[in-house]
Amino acid sequence: MIRGWRLSGWLVGMRRLAALLCTFALMLLSSTAYSSPALTYYGGYHTVVGHEQHNAAVAAAHPDLVKLYDIGDSWTKAQGQGGHDIQALCITKLAPGDCALNSTGKKPKFVLHAQIHARELATGEIAYKWIDLLVSSYGVDPELTALLDTRELWVVPIANPDGVDVVASNPAQPLLQRKNVDDSAGDCVTGYPGVDLNRNSSFHWDANQGGSCAETYPGAKAASEPETVAIQGLLQKIFPDTKSAVDEPAAVRTTGVFLTLHSYGNDILAPWGYTDTAAPDRDKLVALGNKMSAVTGYPVFTGDGGIGYLTPGSTSDWLYGTRGVPSYTFEIGPKTGWCAGFVPAYSCIASTFWPLLKPALVYAAKAAATPYGPLP
Ligand SMILES: [Zn+2]
Repeated sequence: MIRGWRLSGWLVGMRRLAALLCTFALMLLSSTAYSSPALTYYGGYHTVVGHEQHNAAVAAAHPDLVKLYDIGDSWTKAQGQGGHDIQALCITKLAPGDCALNSTGKKPKFVLHAQIHARELATGEIAYKWIDLLVSSYGVDPELTALLDTRELWVVPIANPDGVDVVASNPAQPLLQRKNVDDSAGDCVTGYPGVDLNRNSSFHWDANQGGSCAETYPGAKAASEPETVAIQGLLQKIFPDTKSAVDEPAAVRTTGVFLTLHSYGNDILAPWGYTDTAAPDRDKLVALGNKMSAVTGYPVFTGDGGIGYLTPGSTSDWLYGTRGVPSYTFEIGPKTGWCAGFVPAYSCIASTFWPLLKPALVYAAKAAATPYGPLP
């Protein structure tokens, strides 16, 4: 009896202790959830913080391969209201002089730029996988090892972090924020306020792209947004200007390739985007585009051909127009059916997009040595 009481008393005590421990664990879990933002959303897509942790982790794990840069602020950060740095990684087998913020480096540069349009979810994820592929392949895969020995592989995985914060704020059904979150031109009754960063460059910026609530609102003036200043600042530093004038062809010695990832349409857009007039190097730009088309199946268009609209003030026109670097927009994903649209299921990355895009990225990086020919 006494022994039984002692046993049941001990059991009650243990149960209370267990309950207390459970409560404590739950409190810990909920406080952790409260204090650390989610790293993924919508089935696996990475949040801005997820990308930031990833960038820091690969830089720390591969000091011989990765340089991580803060190239400027998001609009919210520039306002002193939180926000993010815009991050860029330079990945190569680092030798003296590599990955410097100037154009004197010896290795040709391939730049992958993603998620300038926040709701185009697949784009940041492709950049994430490209980073992982590169850092895990050195000394393992002969083709990629050779690439890392001879190229600087720059990646801007999230060009519009404020926008991605909005998108990911509804993890079960991402919000369709395209632009940055600059609401200085006023709030919107329908749609989202913000500036379309792919209409805000300082090359053929065109005020007539829609009012402040339009999805293509170009901002109050060219390069008005800190995100635009950040990316133009980086590209201006690392690529020399090889053109004698904007309307002249690029010098044959020009090196480098720039890809900006967008969704959707399954196509490749080559300069110009702002006009149907042929770019001075159009045939060569299309020739390189066709090589990437051969692996992705995406047809190559210029001007409004194929897409039905012009894109004044785009990042790719700006870089080709001011530096002569071959620059392309990839529109990832079909218009209809499985994996279509802005917010495809996360499984589409591994099942569909990555297998198509990986060889195109590898090709673009190889071609960065002689993008105007002879092509590899
Ligand atoms: Zn886009």
